[in-house]
Amino acid sequence: MKKQDITSIKQLLSKSKKIVIVPHKNPDGDAIGSTLGLYHYLKKANHQVNVIVPNDYPKFLKWIPGNDTILKYDTQTDTCETLINEADILFTLDFNAFHRTGNMEMVLSKSNAIKIMIDHHQSPDDYATYMFSDVTMSSTCEMVYHFIDKLGDTNHIDSDIATCLYVGIMTDTGSFRYPSTTSDTHKIISKLIKKGAQNSNIHNNVYDTNSYERLQLLGCALTNLKVIPEFRAAYITLSQEELYQYNYKKGDTEGVVNYGLSLEGVILAVIFIEDKQEGIIKISLRSKGDFSVNEMSRAHFEGGGHTNAAGGKSHLSLANTVEKFISILPSYKKALNNE
Ligand code: 5GP
Ligand code: MN
Repeated sequence: MKKQDITSIKQLLSKSKKIVIVPHKNPDGDAIGSTLGLYHYLKKANHQVNVIVPNDYPKFLKWIPGNDTILKYDTQTDTCETLINEADILFTLDFNAFHRTGNMEMVLSKSNAIKIMIDHHQSPDDYATYMFSDVTMSSTCEMVYHFIDKLGDTNHIDSDIATCLYVGIMTDTGSFRYPSTTSDTHKIISKLIKKGAQNSNIHNNVYDTNSYERLQLLGCALTNLKVIPEFRAAYITLSQEELYQYNYKKGDTEGVVNYGLSLEGVILAVIFIEDKQEGIIKISLRSKGDFSVNEMSRAHFEGGGHTNAAGGKSHLSLANTVEKFISILPSYKKALNNE
């Protein structure tokens, strides 16, 4: 974070402003935690603040402080467009290209507001007036903590802000186990607990609120798990029929891809989820070590993300998408066996 930018932003925020904060489509724990964490911080400083999400998010995130104030673009389009058009400042959090907000792309790219990006994904687009982009960061929530710190305001962090930021650091680091977790991450977590984040309750709220059907769906996914030892790869499929069978709700497949990666020797895991409504196969990719699923997804699955966690999609059928995945593996043989 450049000192000059921080000085300008401090100046900018010295008077009450109309502010809109937006995360990516299908927001996850880091997206909701970072937007609401920043929301509480700016609200306390007397700004007019709104968090606008492109679409709905899982129930296990709907307890986070400030959840009830969130506006959804897909169902409250007119209200959201007015707020965006009238905003002085637009914060874009946990993404770095407008297309990642789905249908909000147009209204965001037309906005004349000052734009501040806070994000940790690779290859940022060039739309922001102030760009805080750092791929070494565990999460956008960790970056929001640094942002507040650079503004000299850590004393403003209360239990609501601490709770929000804790959620995103926890979910994006796989509960502090991915290599992106640093000693700094732990120091920040320690401070957030001191400020009132109830760590054990937060873990329970996010991870231990499963429905019976979700666990049955997980059972189905694990039954469908296939391993390709030659490429140290594993993949899971879930058809639309299987999702219906277990009464699929948003968020039910979150984290399922990681079971493939937990197999001994496996360094690449992928899940293919059929979405008939959108007419696509949703893809989540995870890896260990230097193998870049960001690169694989950009090259073959219209997506991207981080080295070890990326998303993407395919317009082929489920079977043909799996076939495509298997057919590209030989071109990665060296990288997959080099680890
Ligand atoms: P997930 O598999 O959980 O949907 O996504 C894994 C990571 O990749 C997340 O950080 C997510 O924000 C990012 N991601 C998911 N889909 C895309 C995409 O289409 N493009 C880019 N650039 N990043 C994505
Ligand atoms: Mn994130």
